[in-house]
Amino acid sequence: MDFSQLNKKFAKNFNDQKAVLKKLLKGSTVNCDTCNKPLSVSLNDKDGEFIVSCGSGCTRLTLEID
Ligand SMILES: [Zn+2]
Repeated sequence: MDFSQLNKKFAKNFNDQKAVLKKLLKGSTVNCDTCNKPLSVSLNDKDGEFIVSCGSGCTRLTLEID
């Protein structure tokens, strides 16, 4: 297995998720890749993370606050 490729893929996904979060926090609309419904962002104070999810529940990303 080529771990360097795996890490690159992971980093890319992570950067994509951060980019989506940034857009949402700026008030832009981002649609779910799967169901095409708009994603919403909420703040989980307890764990210090943002939760990005769509209405259908097929997307649910959690991102720690920097
Ligand atoms: Zn969805």
